[in-house]
Amino acid sequence: MKDLKTLDQQYVANTYARFPVELVSGKGSLVYDETGKEYIDMGSGIGVTAFGIADDGWQAAVTAQLGKLQHMSNLYYTEPCAKLAQILCERTGMKKVFFCNSGAEANEGAIKAARKYAAEKKGPEYYTIVTMENSFHGRTLTTLAATGQDHYHELFQPLTPGFVHAPANNLEAVKTAALENKAAAVMIECIQGEGGVIPLEKSFVQGLAAFCKEEDILLLVDEVQTGNGRTGALYAYMNFGIQPDVVSTAKGIGGGLPLGAVLFGEKTEFTLGHGDHGSTFGGNPVCCAGAISILERIDDDLLAEVKAKSEMAFSMLEGAPGVEAVSGMGLMIGIKTAKPAADVVKTCMENGVLCLTAKDKVRLLPALNIPKDVLAKAIEIVKGACV
Ligand SMILES: *Cc1c(COP(=O)(O)O)cnc(C)c1O
Repeated sequence: MKDLKTLDQQYVANTYARFPVELVSGKGSLVYDETGKEYIDMGSGIGVTAFGIADDGWQAAVTAQLGKLQHMSNLYYTEPCAKLAQILCERTGMKKVFFCNSGAEANEGAIKAARKYAAEKKGPEYYTIVTMENSFHGRTLTTLAATGQDHYHELFQPLTPGFVHAPANNLEAVKTAALENKAAAVMIECIQGEGGVIPLEKSFVQGLAAFCKEEDILLLVDEVQTGNGRTGALYAYMNFGIQPDVVSTAKGIGGGLPLGAVLFGEKTEFTLGHGDHGSTFGGNPVCCAGAISILERIDDDLLAEVKAKSEMAFSMLEGAPGVEAVSGMGLMIGIKTAKPAADVVKTCMENGVLCLTAKDKVRLLPALNIPKDVLAKAIEIVKGACV
């Protein structure tokens, strides 16, 4: 480990404050470090390994495709890409899918489509995208501009112009921001993830959807973290009773390989045409084959299990000593702890549980198929670390 740490620190860009642990292998919700110590993985690579580490079904799908055709570019038809798009549309009522490789890129695609739609429909001055304060939409210069947290912005000016932030759950303020700025779109996370696992109010989301429809302002829903079963629905917007115009997703969809998707609804299905957008790796057959194996298993039974495990986790955590509040939905859980979140995470790691933070919260994003007893064991360890 010491040699690896030295090597990494010498040669890898200094953008991550890593924990002093080298992880070498795993299976399902268990991972092992270089000393053989076992951990329960309550972070899933930040909500990416939807069915855990080295999941059999996902691995079989990926390796079968790997042996056939690993990449051909978007100049040709390949089966996994088309089939995955079909599954996504049939399960969401959306009409078309653009594939890319990450969450930020998915949001870029959504934003480009919104700008083109509004420019064609209303005029080129309708380019502003309204996003929420405390939101997180990615690290590229445009998605940083979309992100409603100033501390991400300071060192990287000038960011892409045309973004305005408004307070979440304040419908009047968002409406005013949208109308005054000639908005092309409003973009939300139904549950602010990096912002601290904070669900938006249902009445706000529904009011916003109605307003957007009335004004022909597109509603973009960033489902990068909340999507693909994470909240107990296939996409979090389904918990809110709305139909977005554009959905962006990534993280869990690929089960551990880089894959992002932009789902276009009726208004925008033809907005991006030949040459308007592209991605060399987007729709990669190996990533898409893995994603099909993930999405096919996120069915009603799996979603019911996610909800049942969520209820168990919430009831174990709520009111526990040192736990001040529990937020989130499904297996996207934020814990406001009396102790600093970073201290709780450190103690958990010592005691064999890997978890995340989100702002001042401890954040749990376990694999969707984590066995109930493993989840209960991990939560007991988290609770122990809170006191
Ligand atoms: C993680 C995240 C992103 C960025 O995804 P990357 O794959 O890191 O580019 C965007 N939006 C939300 C809501 C996220 O949680």
